[in-house]
Amino acid sequence: MSHQDPNCIFCKIVAGQIPSRKVYEDEELYAFHDIHPWAPVHFLLIPKRHIASMAQLAPADEGWMGRLMVLAPKLALEQGCNPYPEGGFRMVCNTGIEGGQEVQHLHWHVMGGPRPWARG
Ligand code: 5GP
Ligand code: ZN
Repeated sequence: MSHQDPNCIFCKIVAGQIPSRKVYEDEELYAFHDIHPWAPVHFLLIPKRHIASMAQLAPADEGWMGRLMVLAPKLALEQGCNPYPEGGFRMVCNTGIEGGQEVQHLHWHVMGGPRPWARG
């Protein structure tokens, strides 16, 4: 997991060159609070290795991807999301320009908490 992009803001966060409010870390994954939260709980869950978006995923990524999906609900609860089904959370992965992606390092938004913040 050493592939980093020196110009990537999330690679710099993983490397500790830009500070972040860490939620979780292991060998392959990193999670930190979004700097501009738009939900009471809003953190980002990313692979440490630089991957631009979901469009670049390959079969070799299935292992950590699966782990990330199993980890997300656990972290959501730890961060203050209420339990399913009354609580829950939303997980979003913007991909590409038409997908609204602004930072070109693969990331999932995990958002939850009491709900006036979201519609639909
Ligand atoms: P995107 O539109 O690419 O899906 O979302 C990128 C997210 O990264 C945005 O919600 C934005 O607030 C967050 N973000 C951008 N720069 C930083 C940063 O330096 N630190 C943190 N913690 N979040 C950031
Ligand atoms: Zn990166």
